Amino acid sequence: MKTILPGATLGVMGGGQLGRMFVHAAQQMGYFTAVLDPDASSPAGLVSHHHIRTPYLDEAGLAQLAQISAAITTEFENVPAPALQRLAASRFVAPAASAVAIAQDRAQEKAHFTRCGVPVAPNAVIETSGQLAALLEEPSAAPGRPKQASTPSGGSEPHAVGSVGVNSLLPGILKTARLGYDGKGQVRVKTQAELAAAWDGLKHVPCVLEKMLPLAAEVSVIVARGADGQMVNFPVQRNLHRAGILAVTEVHEGNIDPSLAKQAIAATKSIAEGLGYVGVLCVEFFVLADGSLVVNEMAPRPHNSGHYSIDACDQSQFDLQVRTLAGLPLTQPRLHSPSIMLNLLGDLWGVDGASPAWDRVLALPGAHLHLYGKHEAKPGRKMGHLTLTGASVAEVRQTALAAAALLGIDPF
Ligand code: ATP
Ligand code: MG
Repeated sequence: MKTILPGATLGVMGGGQLGRMFVHAAQQMGYFTAVLDPDASSPAGLVSHHHIRTPYLDEAGLAQLAQISAAITTEFENVPAPALQRLAASRFVAPAASAVAIAQDRAQEKAHFTRCGVPVAPNAVIETSGQLAALLEEPSAAPGRPKQASTPSGGSEPHAVGSVGVNSLLPGILKTARLGYDGKGQVRVKTQAELAAAWDGLKHVPCVLEKMLPLAAEVSVIVARGADGQMVNFPVQRNLHRAGILAVTEVHEGNIDPSLAKQAIAATKSIAEGLGYVGVLCVEFFVLADGSLVVNEMAPRPHNSGHYSIDACDQSQFDLQVRTLAGLPLTQPRLHSPSIMLNLLGDLWGVDGASPAWDRVLALPGAHLHLYGKHEAKPGRKMGHLTLTGASVAEVRQTALAAAALLGIDPF
């Protein structure tokens, strides 16, 4: 591909906080930016040179984005694949619509992981009421030995429905195959009756029933892969979720067993390689109580767990998104400070919309405040994040806990 040098315009589908941080990184390097997002006050639209305010599938909007931009990326994974295909007819688009389409569908995503030899949680795809009925009729797989179940230690294809006893997947989580985020579109089920009720509650959209696994930890890995196949990675992030939403990310020496870290990075690289991926990709993993690694899901874009890289690495995940899109060389990012990131959810704002005491938080050494410019604070809404950097792990933990206490975030 032809290198796109600073001075050109880079486009992004979606105007959320990830788009905003992409815009900031691109502008710092001297690019102009264009955002397509229908929301007049979207976080990225507010800071971009150009903001096209049309729906994602609007023909005129897409034509305008393609006309202005030398290359186009996406900041949210639910961007309609036909929109990316339309743009790709005339412009370089990364990641490709084909990779985004796989990441948009939990069933396809799990099939891809399995093809790459990375273990997934035991699961069954439920797309029709008939498939659910068949699954419920076959509850009697030998206890502890599900028929053809893809276990964490084995890598068979996700089951055809009916090939695994439902009881071996309970207690489980019924997840919509598409459009879930921050734990939305998920129902925890303990019994067959609860499973049937949850499927009704989710309006019979295609779902995946996943066995509830005993998690010792959650980690994620972010890689950037260029059009020439060159790939670099960030260090492994250790993530704490609360109520299905990322709350804390810790990145420093000793955040996870080094051999597990190596395994997670190798698995992420094989997943990116298998997609022929171009851009920034994040893969989330579970670490089980027995120390084994199971892949959860992937995001075809920079990820919330990589925000620390802006302040704690010599290049951020957004810098690398710009580089992959512009065909610039990739160099291995280096973590220069131990870091802990706290997500700032709308819950931290007062009922009257009063914002937290930022002046007190910013009195802490190594505190980097990022707010996304969202007007209304709602519970669970990601309003910003706070990254703490320090000279040592002990120091950064101390300031992160102090910041959490000031903000009313539970200790971790
Ligand atoms: P996001 O896209 O915001 O990361 P999501 O809505 O796609 O989230 P998941 O990543 O599938 O949701 O699940 C959210 C969280 O729920 C996980 O990070 C984990 O804490 C818990 N969880 C999900 N699946 C399982 C499982 N099979 N066993 C145990 N815990 C799980
Ligand atoms: Mg997730």
